[in-house]
Amino acid sequence: MSKINIKDLCPEELEELVSSFGEEPYRARQIGKWIYRKDADSFDQMTDLPKRFKITLNDSLLLRQSLVPLNERLSSDGTKKYLFQLSDGNKIESVLIPENRRYTLCISTQVGCALGCTFCLTGRVGKMRNLKASEIVDQFLLVNNFNSGCITNLVFMGMGEPLDNLENTVRALKIFTHEDFVGISPKKITVSTSGLVPQIRELGKQVSVNLSVSLNAPLDELRNKIMPINRKYPIEELIKASRDFPMPNRKTLTFEYVLIKGLNDSDKVARTLGKLLKGISCKVNLIPFNEAFPLPYQSPGSERVFSFQDILISYGINARIRKNRGRDILGACGQLAANYPTAKGQTEQKITQGMN
Ligand code: SAH
Ligand code: SF4
Repeated sequence: MSKINIKDLCPEELEELVSSFGEEPYRARQIGKWIYRKDADSFDQMTDLPKRFKITLNDSLLLRQSLVPLNERLSSDGTKKYLFQLSDGNKIESVLIPENRRYTLCISTQVGCALGCTFCLTGRVGKMRNLKASEIVDQFLLVNNFNSGCITNLVFMGMGEPLDNLENTVRALKIFTHEDFVGISPKKITVSTSGLVPQIRELGKQVSVNLSVSLNAPLDELRNKIMPINRKYPIEELIKASRDFPMPNRKTLTFEYVLIKGLNDSDKVARTLGKLLKGISCKVNLIPFNEAFPLPYQSPGSERVFSFQDILISYGINARIRKNRGRDILGACGQLAANYPTAKGQTEQKITQGMN
């Protein structure tokens, strides 16, 4: 039988395993500190564990890095995009976004994505597979290491739909937030979803982190066209589940809204959105569409974006315009494709080369 990678286990699962070996549960926390705080890459380095226990660990578990870094690209705005190879040859990307003293890592949860939003390059790839918890957590461990431990915030907004890989997303979140493991405050972690309603409810039962919902249209008819998942979970149900979500203390729900020229960016649509969200405690992030070949849309001009924002503000909504970081390296929202073909005969690599 192949050995389990220890980083595929969340703190509770590791505690159970440790107990099944006849050891005290606190040993799991010791191991967690070694792996996630002290960067240990072998059980033999864990000097406070008994020798016989280390033999058991070596016999039954693997402690290894699951990702091979292939490439790092630096944007003119300081954003860095990383390309990693998984052990089966698949590839994923992560993006590090510096902003003042905050360093946010945008991590992937799947190779590709099954949900097929029409404006998203990852959706064009289709879903290859879910990432394991170790592959989610290792993105953080590697990028943090490459950048002198600077990461302060995490967003689950890279490749894939985190809630379509709920089990491993939850495992990774538990590893990230446990104070004896990575130990990042849940307030500094955001999970973004396109709106899988039952999974939003399930996530809320298991962890308390910030939730960001990619709304992108205030009417079912329009949302159905650009986000096929809306046909299964329409806007009303989505908003209800989002409002019920238990956010960490003093944090508010976020709605992401990608503004696409001539599609969902008119004043009329802004007023409909204003009415929909009026009175809901939330903020809205307006993201001007990031263009990437072969996506069939365009970004609206800044005047349109400001006008849309002003209308939302007139409804009492805290609407902000998100900066498009890392656009020049195809590292911005919706541009991640990890060199997979995104249309017949086209790869992101070719597209990128064409831009240089
Ligand atoms: N699957 C999750 C998280 C990954 S997508 C989700 O959909 O929320 C992260 C964000 O990128 C989402 O808010 C999505 O609406 C946005 N996005 C996708 N394609 C985009 C594009 N071309 N330009 C701007 N934002 C985009
Ligand atoms: Fe998947 Fe999110 Fe892209 Fe939609 S926007 S295809 S859910 S990654």
